Amino acid sequence: MTNQELREEIVYYFKKQYDLGMLNTFEGNLSARTGDNTILITPTRQDKERITPNMILEVDMDGRLLDDTTLSPSTELGMHLEIYKLRPDLQSVLHNHSAYATAFALVGRPLANDMAESFMFYGGDIPVCPYGRPGTDDVFRDFKKYFVDRDKDVLLLANHGLVTSGKSIGEAFDKAEAVEKLAKITILSETLGPDNPLSAVEKAKLIEIYNNRRNN
Ligand SMILES: [Zn+2]
Repeated sequence: MTNQELREEIVYYFKKQYDLGMLNTFEGNLSARTGDNTILITPTRQDKERITPNMILEVDMDGRLLDDTTLSPSTELGMHLEIYKLRPDLQSVLHNHSAYATAFALVGRPLANDMAESFMFYGGDIPVCPYGRPGTDDVFRDFKKYFVDRDKDVLLLANHGLVTSGKSIGEAFDKAEAVEKLAKITILSETLGPDNPLSAVEKAKLIEIYNNRRNN
């Protein structure tokens, strides 16, 4: 993809999150890695209904702004850069505060249940990273433990929100949408009763599917 196409893709999936109620007007951020090893990222505090591709900002891997503009990159730029540095395979990072996923982040509870999807798409659980004040380096001080040591692509941020990543912008979005639905299903199912358990053999098979999918 050209940088212009990436800018258009970022705008498309940023607005889509807003249309689906996953984001408020001014919150959240979305980025992609370019072929020049720079990052394209959404600007801070701009109305999603007014964002255009030429408002998406290019920065280098040290966070220096490369565009001549009065706009500023997202205040969570440092978090995005850290993930790209930790995981050269990842091409896009998304952060939001979607309601059901963030409810789990708020109570500090990993998102884990016996839905087949939990194993196939997330390897069994979505952990909660300890709290760090939004917009500071503390947000990502523990990311290595999750993105590298545990090879996770999706993380809940304690008392804050959700971060997803993927090999494309669409994949990072897909995970954010699926996590939100999974969190909603978990809350709904718990009003009905305990999970109908999957066998250990079936869980292992589903995790194998997860690992194969990630390696292809
Ligand atoms: Zn946030």
